[in-house]
Amino acid sequence: MMRTSTSKQKKVLVCGAGGFIGSHLVKRLKKENFWVRGVDLKYPEYSKTQADEFILGDLRDPRFCQEIFDPHTKRVRPLGRLRSDPDSFDEVYQMAADMGGAGYIFTGSHDADVMRNSALININIVSYGQKAKIKKIFFPSSACIYPLYNQLDPDNPKCSEDSAYPAAPDSEYGWEKIFSERLYLAYFRNFRLDVRIARFHNVFGPEGAWEGGREKAPAAICRKVAQAQDGGEIEVWGDGKQTRSFLYIDECLTGVRKLMDSKDFHGPVNIGSEEMVTINQLVDMVIEISGKKLKVKHVKGPQGVRGRNSDNRLIRKKLGWEPKMKLKDGLKKTYKWIEQQVLQYVF
Ligand code: NAD
Repeated sequence: MMRTSTSKQKKVLVCGAGGFIGSHLVKRLKKENFWVRGVDLKYPEYSKTQADEFILGDLRDPRFCQEIFDPHTKRVRPLGRLRSDPDSFDEVYQMAADMGGAGYIFTGSHDADVMRNSALININIVSYGQKAKIKKIFFPSSACIYPLYNQLDPDNPKCSEDSAYPAAPDSEYGWEKIFSERLYLAYFRNFRLDVRIARFHNVFGPEGAWEGGREKAPAAICRKVAQAQDGGEIEVWGDGKQTRSFLYIDECLTGVRKLMDSKDFHGPVNIGSEEMVTINQLVDMVIEISGKKLKVKHVKGPQGVRGRNSDNRLIRKKLGWEPKMKLKDGLKKTYKWIEQQVLQYVF
């Protein structure tokens, strides 16, 4: 697929455009009239991409990365007419990563893949992006970089941006993110590459992974509830007393776009909700939305830290904005979509 850009349109590259956040981001950027090239190992799974061009390929491969920054790359040449403007991308959003929820990140079984794959992608993108003279790049870090020692008390987790060091993330996923934050910041210092870094806190919504092992808590719980018979039982990992906050996808994207548009604020900054709930409260909300009566059975399973919540003081100060949507409103939309997926499988 290929559409040419008009001279007034800003050109954007979205890496990871086949994933959950990347595919929603492409839709948002198209609404804002950007010209978008998407890149991923795969197309979006649940709806057709809205990118003007979509290139399939492996971002761990340096030669592939070199090509995607070239507006005239051979990869898209056979698909249509060449774009006439030779300039580099105005904005790059580096959403590609080897990632998943607790069942993928905290079991330890994927540690080597997660670190190697994501580090290679980030090294390739930032170095070839800088050589191609891209104008601005966004990197999504994670709340998983925050130290374990500040997240032992479920009622009082500390996740202010300045609490990241001394670093002690509880997963290799978090260590890769903190390495990559530093990598992008080094390119900012040494090459004046305009980097923007956010630390996302549990983003959820429709068209995200909901089965297969990479799904996160809100999607996994929505799936279990949607699959359960009224009067039945669902399993929840751990005692359910661990706390988290969850951010609806649309709010995440608004935060990202505000950070990219800010004059001179580079982050790292939290993009998350401050509405902290226990996993038991999250489960109760989903059960209530479903209208079913269900029992909850707590079973052993990977859980991550005991407490985590976004601290939005910095984003309020620097961007004059913070997410406002209630968790329950986002869960209603997500449950409805996951219920449809479950029913499609059954019938
Ligand atoms: P996702 O898994 O849905 O999307 C990641 C995409 O990257 C996938 O489509 C995958 O195919 C692609 N990808 C992986 N390896 C690749 C490779 N070698 N070459 C090309 N493409 C490759 O994840 P997401 O939830 O959309 O997350 C997007 C970004 O935000 C990631 O960097 C993630 O770490 C970060 N983040 C997400 C959350 C969240 O709650 N979803 C929280 C914190 C940070």
